[in-house]
Amino acid sequence: MIARFLFDGVVRAGEVHGSSIEADGRAYEIGEVELLPPAEPSKVVCVGLNYVLHAKELKMDLPTEPIIFLKPSTAVIGPGADIVMPPSSNQVDYEGELAAVIGRRCRYVPAGEAEDYILGYANFNDVTARDLQRRDGQWTRAKSFDTFAPLGPYVVEADPSSLAIETRVNGRVGQSSNTSDLIFSIPELVEFISGIMTLLPGDVIASGTPPGVGSLSAGDVVEVEVEGLGVLRNPVVGVVEPSDQNRLS
Ligand code: MG
Repeated sequence: MIARFLFDGVVRAGEVHGSSIEADGRAYEIGEVELLPPAEPSKVVCVGLNYVLHAKELKMDLPTEPIIFLKPSTAVIGPGADIVMPPSSNQVDYEGELAAVIGRRCRYVPAGEAEDYILGYANFNDVTARDLQRRDGQWTRAKSFDTFAPLGPYVVEADPSSLAIETRVNGRVGQSSNTSDLIFSIPELVEFISGIMTLLPGDVIASGTPPGVGSLSAGDVVEVEVEGLGVLRNPVVGVVEPSDQNRLS
């Protein structure tokens, strides 16, 4: 179980053991550090419509090939970081997902060898400005706002084939499913995506969301929890004035 964190102004990565992280020869209590996204992807490759029940819910045919799209690396935030509602959207939805994190540079990976190239798994929230997604007809704007890709809290070794997945807003369950309902499995996605583009260490493949997506409001706290991967918890905050954002960055 790998964490990245900030302590005394220095970014470190280490192994999580109980309530501490071992890094650079010492143990850091998780409570005394700021957890960062557990990976630094060059790209986040997302899969649309990849749960049987979600496709049925939308009365759509099951896809014969994965539908993929990209989120920019600049959208990635870690556990505890704020999801910022953009002023141009009136409907921001959560999408809890299982993400695979790539461990080694790869291209043309057969599904049977995919495991060799995966560092581990993490919770992911494919935050989406649903109104802009509908309006634009393609998804780049709706999916790409800063803070729209919460990832974490850790990268964990796991068997991804049958894990419970749940998304909660203020403690109320919105999505409850299992990764065994994925139409295209993680190994199949690695084969498909690596047949298109080179995958680099830290790259994230987000495997799609189960039924039950819903909207977020300022003041909410959203949690994604895939079995065994910990809890990814992020507060939702209202619009930040662009001038304030410039000052923060
Ligand atoms: Mg999604």
